Amino acid sequence: MIDKSFLLDKLDEMFPSAHCELNFSSPFECLVAVSLSAQTTDNSVNRVTPRLFSTYPTPVEMAKADIKEVEEIIHSIGLYHNKAKNIISLSKAIVENFNGEVRLDKKTLTSLPGVGIKTANVVLAEAAHIPSIPVDTHVSRVSIRLGLAKEGDAPEVVEKKLEKIFPKERWIKMHHQLIFLGRRVCSARSPQCETCPLSVQCKEGKKRLSTKGK
Ligand code: SF4
Repeated sequence: MIDKSFLLDKLDEMFPSAHCELNFSSPFECLVAVSLSAQTTDNSVNRVTPRLFSTYPTPVEMAKADIKEVEEIIHSIGLYHNKAKNIISLSKAIVENFNGEVRLDKKTLTSLPGVGIKTANVVLAEAAHIPSIPVDTHVSRVSIRLGLAKEGDAPEVVEKKLEKIFPKERWIKMHHQLIFLGRRVCSARSPQCETCPLSVQCKEGKKRLSTKGK
């Protein structure tokens, strides 16, 4: 397994200001933005949310929204029909069960329609700065390649393994850095191991570079 101090130091050098790339200004907006971000880019979400948030600024307005009008606003992003349905349903649940308030605890968040552990973790980390490690496809892939998790580990298993290895105070920043690593250097199809500063200790990087050298 890659040495954890080496990894954290290199991630700090590579991505000193890694951050959440979704735009939002309240826990509710954060929850909606993350719900919209599945299988699409943060930029495409950021393009539709200004109008969405100004039309439906709170769960109360969103709960009463006409689905066709929400779809019209978010139609440029993938899976917009389901996403429109989800954000209206989760708003209704917030209004009916929690007095219109987005409660920042994992159990409550994951009880909302369409909200899984990863989405809940992002909201906890970004809206409340509660140490969390949301495991998306990038975090999962790079964790396996670095030898921090195993091929076939479910996201929840990767999350638990990372939580055990790294100090709590680094969880949020490190998770952003792992996403940046996955997006910018260690892509699914063509990881740039030749130039990646982690390759001297990375399990997958060493394997790929030794195969190339033969
Ligand atoms: Fe990814 Fe290669 Fe870097 Fe390892 S060395 S993190 S596989 S790009």
